[in-house]
Amino acid sequence: MFCQRCDKPLKADEAEKIDHHGATGAGSTITVCRIPCRPTPQQTAPYETGR
Ligand SMILES: [Zn+2]
Repeated sequence: MFCQRCDKPLKADEAEKIDHHGATGAGSTITVCRIPCRPTPQQTAPYETGR
């Protein structure tokens, strides 16, 4: 599974499911890190993205 906040792979004991309330009012459960993590920036970063 992957953290849906920072997009990193998670082990079962590192993950936490939280309720995420969307704008539609329909809540959905997302998996995130148990520890607070930084969301991946959505804007284009000036870093090289190649591997
Ligand atoms: Zn995370």
